[in-house]
Amino acid sequence: MKFEIYDTLSRQNQPVEAANGKTLGFYCCGPTVYAAAHIGNFRTFVVQDVFRRVAELSGVKVKHVRNITNVDDKTIRVSMEQGRKLEDFTKEWTGKFHEDCAALNLLSPMVEPGAVEHIQEQIDLIASLVDKGVAYQAKDGSVFFRIEAFPEYGRLSGVKDRELTTDTSAQADDEYGRDSMADFALWKTAKPEDGDNVWDSPWGKGRPGWHLECSAMSMKYLGPSFDVHSGGIDLAFPHHENEIAQSEACTGQTFSRLWFHVVHLMVDGKKMSKSLGNMYTLADLEAKGFQAPEVRYGLIAGHYRKHLNFTVDALAAHRSNLERLARLSDLVNEQSGHKPRKYQELCKVSPEADGLGRFAPAFASLLDNLNVPKALGEVFRVAGQIEKDPASVSREDARGLERVVQALGLILPETEAVEVPEEVVALAEERLKAKADKNWAASDRLRDEISAKGWAVKDVAGGYELVKV
Ligand code: AMP
Ligand code: ZN
Repeated sequence: MKFEIYDTLSRQNQPVEAANGKTLGFYCCGPTVYAAAHIGNFRTFVVQDVFRRVAELSGVKVKHVRNITNVDDKTIRVSMEQGRKLEDFTKEWTGKFHEDCAALNLLSPMVEPGAVEHIQEQIDLIASLVDKGVAYQAKDGSVFFRIEAFPEYGRLSGVKDRELTTDTSAQADDEYGRDSMADFALWKTAKPEDGDNVWDSPWGKGRPGWHLECSAMSMKYLGPSFDVHSGGIDLAFPHHENEIAQSEACTGQTFSRLWFHVVHLMVDGKKMSKSLGNMYTLADLEAKGFQAPEVRYGLIAGHYRKHLNFTVDALAAHRSNLERLARLSDLVNEQSGHKPRKYQELCKVSPEADGLGRFAPAFASLLDNLNVPKALGEVFRVAGQIEKDPASVSREDARGLERVVQALGLILPETEAVEVPEEVVALAEERLKAKADKNWAASDRLRDEISAKGWAVKDVAGGYELVKV
Protein backbone atom coordinates (compact mmCIF):
# COMPACT_ATOMS: atom_id res chain seq x y z
CA MET A 1 0.00 0.00 0.00
CA LYS A 2 1.58 3.26 -1.16
CA PHE A 3 0.81 6.71 0.14
CA GLU A 4 0.28 9.28 -2.62
CA ILE A 5 -0.22 13.00 -2.41
CA TYR A 6 -1.05 15.76 -4.88
CA ASP A 7 2.11 17.69 -5.74
CA THR A 8 1.52 21.35 -6.63
CA LEU A 9 4.73 21.47 -8.70
CA SER A 10 4.10 18.53 -11.07
CA ARG A 11 0.32 19.02 -10.76
CA GLN A 12 -0.25 15.32 -10.21
CA ASN A 13 -0.28 12.71 -7.47
CA GLN A 14 3.17 11.49 -6.45
CA PRO A 15 4.32 8.72 -4.12
CA VAL A 16 5.31 9.90 -0.66
CA GLU A 17 8.69 8.24 -0.20
CA ALA A 18 12.16 9.15 0.97
CA ALA A 19 14.48 9.85 -1.95
CA ASN A 20 17.41 8.67 0.19
CA GLY A 21 15.59 5.41 0.93
CA LYS A 22 15.69 6.14 4.67
CA THR A 23 13.90 9.17 6.05
CA LEU A 24 11.36 11.45 4.44
CA GLY A 25 12.43 15.09 4.89
CA PHE A 26 9.22 17.06 5.60
CA TYR A 27 9.33 20.83 6.08
CA CYS A 28 6.32 22.90 7.12
CA CYS A 29 6.20 26.68 7.23
CA GLY A 30 5.34 27.38 10.84
CA PRO A 31 3.43 30.11 12.67
CA THR A 32 4.25 33.78 12.91
CA VAL A 33 4.16 34.22 16.67
CA TYR A 34 2.60 37.65 17.28
CA ALA A 35 -0.93 36.55 18.30
CA ALA A 36 -2.84 33.30 18.87
CA ALA A 37 -2.98 31.14 15.75
CA HIS A 38 -6.53 31.04 14.33
CA ILE A 39 -8.39 27.95 13.18
CA GLY A 40 -7.41 28.68 9.56
CA ASN A 41 -3.75 28.35 10.53
CA PHE A 42 -4.69 25.21 12.42
CA ARG A 43 -6.43 23.71 9.42
CA THR A 44 -3.05 23.71 7.72
CA PHE A 45 -1.15 22.43 10.77
CA VAL A 46 -3.68 19.70 11.53
CA VAL A 47 -3.75 18.48 7.91
CA GLN A 48 0.07 18.42 7.94
CA ASP A 49 -0.17 16.34 11.12
CA VAL A 50 -2.50 13.86 9.39
CA PHE A 51 -0.04 13.73 6.47
CA ARG A 52 2.79 12.82 8.84
CA ARG A 53 0.69 10.25 10.70
CA VAL A 54 -0.45 8.53 7.50
CA ALA A 55 3.16 8.42 6.26
CA GLU A 56 4.46 7.00 9.54
CA LEU A 57 1.60 4.54 9.95
CA SER A 58 2.16 3.26 6.42
CA GLY A 59 5.83 2.56 7.15
CA VAL A 60 7.59 5.77 6.05
CA LYS A 61 10.08 7.21 8.53
CA VAL A 62 9.64 10.99 8.71
CA LYS A 63 11.87 13.85 9.85
CA HIS A 64 9.43 16.68 10.43
CA VAL A 65 10.77 20.23 10.68
CA ARG A 66 8.49 23.21 11.34
CA ASN A 67 9.91 26.67 11.92
CA ILE A 68 8.82 29.48 14.21
CA THR A 69 8.75 32.92 12.56
CA ASN A 70 9.91 34.98 15.52
CA VAL A 71 11.19 38.00 13.59
CA ASP A 72 9.33 39.74 10.76
CA ASP A 73 7.36 42.95 10.15
CA LYS A 74 4.40 41.84 12.30
CA THR A 75 6.30 40.45 15.30
CA ILE A 76 8.46 43.59 15.42
CA ARG A 77 5.55 46.00 14.99
CA VAL A 78 3.24 44.44 17.58
CA SER A 79 5.97 43.82 20.18
CA MET A 80 7.08 47.46 19.86
CA GLU A 81 3.50 48.73 20.08
CA GLN A 82 3.21 46.82 23.35
CA GLY A 83 6.58 48.07 24.56
CA ARG A 84 7.91 44.52 24.91
CA LYS A 85 11.20 42.88 24.03
CA LEU A 86 10.81 40.89 20.82
CA GLU A 87 12.26 37.79 22.47
CA ASP A 88 9.90 37.78 25.46
CA PHE A 89 6.92 38.63 23.31
CA THR A 90 7.51 35.86 20.74
CA LYS A 91 8.36 33.30 23.44
CA GLU A 92 4.99 33.90 25.05
CA TRP A 93 3.10 33.39 21.78
CA THR A 94 5.22 30.35 20.93
CA GLY A 95 4.21 28.86 24.27
CA LYS A 96 0.55 29.54 23.55
CA PHE A 97 0.92 27.95 20.11
CA HIS A 98 2.41 24.82 21.71
CA GLU A 99 -0.50 24.60 24.16
CA ASP A 100 -3.01 24.75 21.29
CA CYS A 101 -1.02 22.16 19.32
CA ALA A 102 -1.08 19.79 22.29
CA ALA A 103 -4.82 20.29 22.78
CA LEU A 104 -5.37 19.51 19.08
CA ASN A 105 -3.22 16.37 19.38
CA LEU A 106 -0.52 17.50 16.95
CA LEU A 107 2.68 15.47 17.02
CA SER A 108 5.66 17.69 17.85
CA PRO A 109 8.07 18.20 14.97
CA MET A 110 11.51 16.65 15.44
CA VAL A 111 13.08 20.08 14.94
CA GLU A 112 11.39 23.43 15.51
CA PRO A 113 13.94 26.11 14.59
CA GLY A 114 13.36 29.81 15.19
CA ALA A 115 14.41 32.48 12.69
CA VAL A 116 16.18 34.64 15.29
CA GLU A 117 18.33 31.69 16.32
CA HIS A 118 19.43 31.25 12.68
CA ILE A 119 20.51 34.73 11.64
CA GLN A 120 24.03 33.57 10.78
CA GLU A 121 22.78 30.78 8.49
CA GLN A 122 20.64 33.36 6.69
CA ILE A 123 23.54 35.78 6.31
CA ASP A 124 25.68 32.94 4.88
CA LEU A 125 22.98 32.14 2.33
CA ILE A 126 22.76 35.77 1.22
CA ALA A 127 26.55 35.99 0.95
CA SER A 128 26.60 32.97 -1.31
CA LEU A 129 23.86 34.46 -3.53
CA VAL A 130 25.72 37.78 -3.76
CA ASP A 131 28.90 35.86 -4.70
CA LYS A 132 27.05 34.08 -7.46
CA GLY A 133 25.79 37.39 -8.82
CA VAL A 134 22.09 36.61 -8.34
CA ALA A 135 21.64 39.04 -5.44
CA TYR A 136 22.64 42.69 -5.18
CA GLN A 137 22.72 45.47 -2.64
CA ALA A 138 20.35 48.32 -3.46
CA LYS A 139 20.76 52.01 -2.81
CA ASP A 140 19.22 51.92 0.65
CA GLY A 141 21.54 49.09 1.79
CA SER A 142 19.00 46.25 1.53
CA VAL A 143 19.95 43.13 -0.44
CA PHE A 144 17.59 41.80 -3.13
CA PHE A 145 17.31 38.59 -5.11
CA ARG A 146 17.34 39.27 -8.84
CA ILE A 147 14.39 37.30 -10.20
CA GLU A 148 15.64 37.56 -13.78
CA ALA A 149 18.66 35.53 -12.73
CA PHE A 150 16.38 32.55 -12.07
CA PRO A 151 14.45 31.77 -15.28
CA GLU A 152 12.53 28.94 -13.59
CA TYR A 153 10.78 31.45 -11.32
CA GLY A 154 7.01 30.95 -11.18
CA ARG A 155 6.83 27.24 -12.07
CA LEU A 156 5.22 26.23 -8.79
CA SER A 157 2.34 28.67 -8.76
CA GLY A 158 2.18 29.50 -12.45
CA VAL A 159 2.43 33.11 -11.40
CA LYS A 160 4.64 34.11 -14.31
CA ASP A 161 1.75 33.66 -16.72
CA ARG A 162 -0.54 35.63 -14.47
CA GLU A 163 0.76 38.69 -12.78
CA LEU A 164 4.51 38.67 -12.35
CA THR A 165 6.35 41.02 -14.59
CA THR A 166 10.09 41.36 -14.46
CA ASP A 167 10.16 43.95 -17.21
CA THR A 168 9.54 46.77 -14.83
CA SER A 169 11.58 49.64 -16.22
CA ALA A 170 8.68 51.93 -15.37
CA GLN A 171 8.60 50.82 -11.76
CA ALA A 172 12.26 50.15 -11.06
CA ASP A 173 14.27 52.33 -8.73
CA ASP A 174 11.55 52.51 -6.10
CA GLU A 175 12.17 53.69 -2.52
CA TYR A 176 14.72 50.92 -1.93
CA GLY A 177 16.47 51.33 -5.26
CA ARG A 178 15.52 47.87 -6.52
CA ASP A 179 16.42 47.00 -10.12
CA SER A 180 13.00 45.45 -10.64
CA MET A 181 9.81 45.58 -8.60
CA ALA A 182 9.61 41.80 -8.74
CA ASP A 183 12.94 41.38 -6.93
CA PHE A 184 12.45 40.41 -3.32
CA ALA A 185 14.36 41.34 -0.17
CA LEU A 186 16.88 38.94 1.32
CA TRP A 187 18.20 41.48 3.83
CA LYS A 188 16.26 44.54 4.98
CA THR A 189 18.36 47.45 6.04
CA ALA A 190 17.69 48.84 9.54
CA LYS A 191 14.85 51.38 9.79
CA PRO A 192 13.94 53.45 12.86
CA GLU A 193 10.70 51.49 13.30
CA ASP A 194 12.75 48.28 13.80
CA GLY A 195 14.05 49.53 17.16
CA ASP A 196 16.74 47.21 18.55
CA ASN A 197 15.61 44.31 16.41
CA VAL A 198 18.51 44.49 13.98
CA TRP A 199 21.69 42.45 13.52
CA ASP A 200 25.15 43.14 12.07
CA SER A 201 25.90 41.82 8.59
CA PRO A 202 28.34 42.43 5.73
CA TRP A 203 25.67 44.81 4.35
CA GLY A 204 25.30 46.81 7.54
CA LYS A 205 22.73 46.55 10.31
CA GLY A 206 19.41 45.06 9.38
CA ARG A 207 17.36 41.87 9.49
CA PRO A 208 16.63 38.99 7.15
CA GLY A 209 13.64 39.09 4.79
CA TRP A 210 10.91 36.65 5.77
CA HIS A 211 11.29 34.26 2.79
CA LEU A 212 14.89 33.57 3.58
CA GLU A 213 14.44 31.85 6.93
CA CYS A 214 12.63 28.83 5.52
CA SER A 215 15.36 28.19 2.93
CA ALA A 216 18.15 28.53 5.48
CA MET A 217 16.51 26.38 8.14
CA SER A 218 15.04 23.67 5.91
CA MET A 219 18.40 23.14 4.18
CA LYS A 220 20.26 23.17 7.51
CA TYR A 221 18.11 20.41 8.99
CA LEU A 222 17.08 18.42 5.91
CA GLY A 223 19.93 19.03 3.46
CA PRO A 224 19.96 21.01 0.18
CA SER A 225 17.42 18.68 -1.41
CA PHE A 226 14.57 17.10 0.54
CA ASP A 227 11.24 15.39 -0.05
CA VAL A 228 8.18 17.43 0.88
CA HIS A 229 7.58 21.10 1.63
CA SER A 230 4.20 22.26 2.89
CA GLY A 231 2.12 25.28 3.82
CA GLY A 232 -1.25 26.88 3.22
CA ILE A 233 -2.01 27.53 -0.45
CA ASP A 234 -1.51 31.29 0.04
CA LEU A 235 2.18 30.59 0.54
CA ALA A 236 2.75 29.09 -2.94
CA PHE A 237 3.32 32.60 -4.24
CA PRO A 238 5.41 34.52 -3.40
CA HIS A 239 6.83 32.73 -0.33
CA HIS A 240 7.51 29.31 -1.82
CA GLU A 241 8.51 30.63 -5.24
CA ASN A 242 11.05 32.81 -3.47
CA GLU A 243 12.28 29.92 -1.36
CA ILE A 244 12.82 27.81 -4.49
CA ALA A 245 14.61 30.63 -6.30
CA GLN A 246 17.04 31.52 -3.54
CA SER A 247 17.75 27.89 -2.55
CA GLU A 248 18.20 26.46 -6.04
CA ALA A 249 20.20 29.46 -7.23
CA CYS A 250 22.54 28.78 -4.31
CA THR A 251 22.89 24.98 -4.46
CA GLY A 252 22.10 24.14 -8.08
CA GLN A 253 19.98 21.25 -6.78
CA THR A 254 16.24 20.62 -6.61
CA PHE A 255 15.13 22.23 -3.34
CA SER A 256 11.98 20.28 -2.38
CA ARG A 257 10.88 17.41 -4.63
CA LEU A 258 7.18 17.67 -3.73
CA TRP A 259 4.97 20.57 -2.66
CA PHE A 260 1.96 19.88 -0.48
CA HIS A 261 -0.45 22.82 -0.11
CA VAL A 262 -3.57 23.03 2.02
CA VAL A 263 -6.52 25.04 0.71
CA HIS A 264 -7.94 27.72 2.96
CA LEU A 265 -10.56 27.44 5.62
CA MET A 266 -13.59 29.71 5.33
CA VAL A 267 -16.02 30.46 8.12
CA ASP A 268 -19.77 30.50 7.39
CA GLY A 269 -18.96 30.63 3.67
CA LYS A 270 -16.75 33.70 3.98
CA LYS A 271 -13.06 34.39 4.15
CA MET A 272 -11.95 34.75 7.75
CA SER A 273 -11.18 38.29 8.71
CA LYS A 274 -11.04 40.40 11.84
CA SER A 275 -13.60 42.88 10.44
CA LEU A 276 -16.19 40.14 9.81
CA GLY A 277 -15.72 38.91 13.37
CA ASN A 278 -15.36 35.33 12.16
CA MET A 279 -11.70 34.77 12.96
CA TYR A 280 -11.81 32.15 15.67
CA THR A 281 -8.99 30.93 17.84
CA LEU A 282 -9.25 27.73 19.84
CA ALA A 283 -9.87 29.84 22.95
CA ASP A 284 -12.80 31.61 21.21
CA LEU A 285 -14.42 28.24 20.46
CA GLU A 286 -13.78 26.98 23.98
CA ALA A 287 -15.54 30.07 25.28
CA LYS A 288 -18.54 28.98 23.21
CA GLY A 289 -18.51 25.60 24.99
CA PHE A 290 -16.63 23.52 22.42
CA GLN A 291 -13.40 21.59 22.91
CA ALA A 292 -10.28 20.88 20.89
CA PRO A 293 -11.29 17.28 19.92
CA GLU A 294 -14.35 18.42 17.96
CA VAL A 295 -12.40 21.33 16.46
CA ARG A 296 -9.76 18.91 15.20
CA TYR A 297 -12.50 16.72 13.74
CA GLY A 298 -14.03 19.74 11.98
CA LEU A 299 -10.67 20.82 10.57
CA ILE A 300 -9.99 17.49 8.88
CA ALA A 301 -13.52 16.47 7.91
CA GLY A 302 -13.35 18.17 4.48
CA HIS A 303 -10.85 17.30 1.73
CA TYR A 304 -7.72 19.41 2.15
CA ARG A 305 -7.73 20.43 -1.52
CA LYS A 306 -11.14 22.06 -1.23
CA HIS A 307 -12.20 25.13 0.67
CA LEU A 308 -13.43 24.01 4.04
CA ASN A 309 -16.48 25.82 5.30
CA PHE A 310 -16.23 25.84 9.06
CA THR A 311 -19.41 26.41 11.04
CA VAL A 312 -19.72 26.50 14.80
CA ASP A 313 -23.06 24.67 14.54
CA ALA A 314 -21.33 21.61 13.06
CA LEU A 315 -19.14 21.19 16.15
CA ALA A 316 -21.95 19.58 18.14
CA ALA A 317 -22.38 16.96 15.39
CA HIS A 318 -18.62 16.33 15.39
CA ARG A 319 -18.82 15.77 19.14
CA SER A 320 -21.47 13.09 18.76
CA ASN A 321 -19.49 11.42 15.96
CA LEU A 322 -16.50 11.24 18.30
CA GLU A 323 -18.68 9.76 21.05
CA ARG A 324 -19.97 7.13 18.64
CA LEU A 325 -16.41 6.29 17.61
CA ALA A 326 -15.37 6.01 21.27
CA ARG A 327 -18.17 3.51 21.92
CA LEU A 328 -17.27 1.64 18.74
CA SER A 329 -13.63 1.46 19.74
CA ASP A 330 -14.51 0.08 23.20
CA LEU A 331 -16.87 -2.41 21.63
CA VAL A 332 -14.40 -3.77 19.07
CA ASN A 333 -11.62 -3.96 21.67
CA GLU A 334 -13.80 -5.82 24.13
CA GLN A 335 -15.21 -8.15 21.49
CA SER A 336 -11.81 -9.04 20.09
CA GLY A 337 -9.69 -8.81 23.24
CA HIS A 338 -7.49 -6.21 21.49
CA LYS A 339 -5.28 -4.09 23.73
CA PRO A 340 -4.84 -0.53 22.34
CA ARG A 341 -1.26 0.41 21.52
CA LYS A 342 0.63 3.68 21.68
CA TYR A 343 1.13 5.63 18.43
CA GLN A 344 4.88 4.91 18.35
CA GLU A 345 4.28 1.18 18.79
CA LEU A 346 1.80 1.17 15.96
CA CYS A 347 4.28 2.89 13.61
CA LYS A 348 6.66 -0.06 14.04
CA VAL A 349 4.17 -2.55 12.57
CA SER A 350 3.20 -2.32 8.91
CA PRO A 351 -0.52 -2.23 8.12
CA GLU A 352 -0.03 -5.33 5.94
CA ALA A 353 1.48 -7.35 8.80
CA ASP A 354 -0.98 -5.99 11.35
CA GLY A 355 -4.15 -6.33 9.30
CA LEU A 356 -6.89 -3.74 8.85
CA GLY A 357 -9.96 -5.97 8.69
CA ARG A 358 -13.04 -4.16 7.48
CA PHE A 359 -11.28 -0.82 7.96
CA ALA A 360 -8.94 -1.48 5.02
CA PRO A 361 -10.96 0.76 2.63
CA ALA A 362 -10.85 3.62 5.19
CA PHE A 363 -7.06 3.40 5.47
CA ALA A 364 -6.75 3.07 1.69
CA SER A 365 -8.72 6.34 1.31
CA LEU A 366 -6.15 8.10 3.46
CA LEU A 367 -3.30 6.74 1.36
CA ASP A 368 -5.09 8.09 -1.72
CA ASN A 369 -4.18 11.76 -1.36
CA LEU A 370 -5.52 12.04 2.18
CA ASN A 371 -9.17 11.57 1.36
CA VAL A 372 -10.39 12.07 4.92
CA PRO A 373 -14.12 12.53 4.10
CA LYS A 374 -14.12 9.20 2.25
CA ALA A 375 -12.21 7.52 5.08
CA LEU A 376 -14.71 8.78 7.67
CA GLY A 377 -17.59 7.62 5.47
CA GLU A 378 -16.02 4.14 5.35
CA VAL A 379 -15.48 4.09 9.10
CA PHE A 380 -19.13 4.89 9.80
CA ARG A 381 -20.33 2.38 7.21
CA VAL A 382 -18.43 -0.39 9.02
CA ALA A 383 -19.51 1.04 12.39
CA GLY A 384 -23.12 0.46 11.34
CA GLN A 385 -22.33 -3.20 10.52
CA ILE A 386 -20.55 -3.77 13.82
CA GLU A 387 -23.21 -2.09 15.92
CA LYS A 388 -25.78 -4.45 14.37
CA ASP A 389 -23.63 -7.52 14.79
CA PRO A 390 -20.95 -7.06 17.47
CA ALA A 391 -20.10 -10.76 17.44
CA SER A 392 -18.75 -10.35 13.90
CA VAL A 393 -15.76 -8.30 15.13
CA SER A 394 -12.36 -9.76 14.35
CA ARG A 395 -8.98 -8.88 15.83
CA GLU A 396 -8.05 -7.35 12.45
CA ASP A 397 -11.11 -5.07 12.62
CA ALA A 398 -9.92 -3.82 16.01
CA ARG A 399 -6.39 -3.21 14.71
CA GLY A 400 -7.69 -1.50 11.57
CA LEU A 401 -9.95 0.85 13.50
CA GLU A 402 -7.08 1.67 15.83
CA ARG A 403 -4.78 2.51 12.89
CA VAL A 404 -7.36 4.74 11.19
CA VAL A 405 -8.21 6.60 14.41
CA GLN A 406 -4.49 7.17 15.08
CA ALA A 407 -3.86 8.28 11.49
CA LEU A 408 -6.57 10.91 11.85
CA GLY A 409 -5.23 11.78 15.30
CA LEU A 410 -8.79 11.77 16.64
CA ILE A 411 -9.16 12.37 20.35
CA LEU A 412 -11.89 10.00 21.53
CA PRO A 413 -13.77 10.96 24.68
CA GLU A 414 -13.71 8.62 27.66
CA THR A 415 -16.78 6.45 27.52
CA GLU A 416 -18.74 6.41 30.73
CA ALA A 417 -19.07 3.13 32.57
CA VAL A 418 -22.75 2.15 32.15
CA GLU A 419 -24.70 0.02 34.54
CA VAL A 420 -26.18 -3.05 32.96
CA PRO A 421 -29.97 -3.02 33.47
CA GLU A 422 -31.28 -5.87 35.64
CA GLU A 423 -33.53 -7.24 32.90
CA VAL A 424 -30.50 -7.59 30.59
CA VAL A 425 -28.54 -9.41 33.30
CA ALA A 426 -31.55 -11.68 33.85
CA LEU A 427 -31.65 -12.54 30.12
CA ALA A 428 -27.92 -13.22 30.11
CA GLU A 429 -28.25 -15.50 33.13
CA GLU A 430 -31.09 -17.34 31.44
CA ARG A 431 -28.94 -17.70 28.32
CA LEU A 432 -26.03 -19.06 30.37
CA LYS A 433 -28.35 -21.72 31.76
CA ALA A 434 -29.73 -22.51 28.29
CA LYS A 435 -26.18 -23.03 27.05
CA ALA A 436 -25.34 -25.28 29.98
CA ASP A 437 -28.42 -27.32 29.02
CA LYS A 438 -27.19 -27.33 25.39
CA ASN A 439 -30.45 -25.63 24.39
CA TRP A 440 -28.92 -23.75 21.46
CA ALA A 441 -32.19 -22.46 20.06
CA ALA A 442 -33.06 -20.78 23.37
CA SER A 443 -29.53 -19.44 23.69
CA ASP A 444 -29.74 -17.82 20.22
CA ARG A 445 -33.17 -16.39 20.93
CA LEU A 446 -31.92 -14.86 24.20
CA ARG A 447 -28.89 -13.36 22.44
CA ASP A 448 -31.29 -11.64 20.01
CA GLU A 449 -33.41 -10.35 22.87
CA ILE A 450 -30.34 -8.94 24.59
CA SER A 451 -29.21 -7.32 21.37
CA ALA A 452 -32.69 -5.79 20.84
CA LYS A 453 -32.18 -4.07 24.20
CA GLY A 454 -28.93 -2.51 22.92
CA TRP A 455 -26.43 -4.91 24.50
CA ALA A 456 -24.01 -7.47 23.15
CA VAL A 457 -23.30 -10.64 25.06
CA LYS A 458 -19.91 -12.24 24.71
CA ASP A 459 -18.91 -15.66 25.98
CA VAL A 460 -15.87 -15.77 28.21
CA ALA A 461 -14.41 -18.60 30.27
CA GLY A 462 -16.98 -19.62 32.86
CA GLY A 463 -19.55 -16.95 32.03
CA TYR A 464 -20.35 -13.92 29.88
CA GLU A 465 -19.62 -10.24 29.40
CA LEU A 466 -22.15 -7.59 28.48
CA VAL A 467 -21.13 -4.68 26.26
CA LYS A 468 -23.28 -1.62 25.47
CA VAL A 469 -23.72 -1.16 21.72
P1 AMP B 1 1.24 32.39 9.49
O1 AMP B 1 1.22 32.25 10.98
O2 AMP B 1 0.45 33.57 9.01
O3 AMP B 1 2.66 32.42 8.97
O4 AMP B 1 0.53 31.13 8.87
C1 AMP B 1 0.75 29.81 9.29
C2 AMP B 1 0.13 28.84 8.30
O5 AMP B 1 -1.30 28.99 8.25
C3 AMP B 1 0.60 29.00 6.86
O6 AMP B 1 0.87 27.72 6.31
C4 AMP B 1 -0.57 29.66 6.17
O7 AMP B 1 -0.60 29.38 4.79
C5 AMP B 1 -1.74 29.01 6.89
N1 AMP B 1 -3.03 29.73 6.80
C6 AMP B 1 -3.28 31.05 7.00
N2 AMP B 1 -4.61 31.33 6.86
C7 AMP B 1 -5.22 30.14 6.58
C8 AMP B 1 -6.58 29.72 6.34
N3 AMP B 1 -7.61 30.59 6.38
N4 AMP B 1 -6.81 28.42 6.06
C9 AMP B 1 -5.80 27.52 6.04
N5 AMP B 1 -4.51 27.84 6.27
C10 AMP B 1 -4.21 29.13 6.54
ZN1 ZN C 1 8.13 29.20 4.90
